[in-house]
Amino acid sequence: MRRVYLDNAATTPISEEVIEVMVDCMREHYGNPSSIHAQGRTVRAAIEQARKKIAGYMGASIGEIFFTSGGTESNNMALRCAVRDLNVERIISSPTEHHCVGHTLESLEKKGVEVVMLDVCGKGKLDYEELESLLKSSDKKTLVSLMAANNEIGTLQNMELVSALCEEYGAYYHSDTVQTVGHFPLDVSKLKIHFLSGSAHKFHGPKGVGFIYVNNGSLIKPLIHGGSQERNMRAGTENVYGIVGMAKALELACDNMEAKQEKIESLRAYLKNQLLENFEDIQFNGDHNGSYLYTVLSVSFPNSPKSEMLLLMLDIAGISASGGSACSSGAEKGSHVMQAVKADPKRKSIRFSFSHYNTKDEIDYVVEKLKTMVAVKEEVLA
Ligand code: PLP
Repeated sequence: MRRVYLDNAATTPISEEVIEVMVDCMREHYGNPSSIHAQGRTVRAAIEQARKKIAGYMGASIGEIFFTSGGTESNNMALRCAVRDLNVERIISSPTEHHCVGHTLESLEKKGVEVVMLDVCGKGKLDYEELESLLKSSDKKTLVSLMAANNEIGTLQNMELVSALCEEYGAYYHSDTVQTVGHFPLDVSKLKIHFLSGSAHKFHGPKGVGFIYVNNGSLIKPLIHGGSQERNMRAGTENVYGIVGMAKALELACDNMEAKQEKIESLRAYLKNQLLENFEDIQFNGDHNGSYLYTVLSVSFPNSPKSEMLLLMLDIAGISASGGSACSSGAEKGSHVMQAVKADPKRKSIRFSFSHYNTKDEIDYVVEKLKTMVAVKEEVLA
């Protein structure tokens, strides 16, 4: 049966070139990178090559990139270590962050850290004046943790503005950039940012590997203790194949970014127009005409007897999409993001998320299948 994959914000298919590089590495480079013999040194060199490449694409220096198991670990590391090692007493964040930030903040709050949540509007945008007045209002050492792009509704935040405000008021700045690394240009040398995180499986790399950028001036200690890997910052034998695959995936993503963006933007716009033309009462979540992540289109369908089953019906028809956050795909739990933007709970939201592997023909297939599931406009039926 035909399958159309439109859940790329949850994870992306790994690209063939990345698989090839990883398989070669698995065959050839089996040494432990901490060993001093030849096999160990070869693997160490492969890891350092990967670090150099990733640092280059991020505008960072080599010493500022540390490999982790992915976005969740990188975000935990930034938040927990900033509190422990940089005397952060207050964290300003938002209610639409991914659970790996939100739940970490809950646990830090229980340990006495003051956590302040900014308001978000119905489009998921922040009020930067509120951020400024909060930054002004206290002498407590503060960390601002705000995601670059929301994974459920795609709203982008203004990193330049947040970075300037943090600098002006002497706050640390962490951004969960998991959905933007490899999709938008990111240059840490042009931003005053202390921590950001990336995850390979969001840009056609392998799962279970990511990185954290830690600005040279922000001296944190390890979250995971053990051996002296990652210059004593993150213990454990390195995920060599993952790291090598991630560097290749980032190279492919960054070198062809504009062409891929153009293709994905046009697929997103095509689906959007097709939905508006063919179906009754379609709405979109997030800042869908303004500042948005082009890989995501979150569609709000009107309430109907079938709408509760929409995600399941799409799956049965061969279409993979998501009802909310990636991590609860399939589980159909209420989404904290939809609650924060005060989405109408009677309507049904489906997140379609794209990659450059999708085609216009696939979008036509989705629209044809949707015609059997949701209310079609009368003029289309006529
Ligand atoms: N942050 C955001 C915005 C995400 O979308 C995700 C994954 O869904 C994560 C963090 C977690 O990343 P990982 O799956 O690499 O742990």
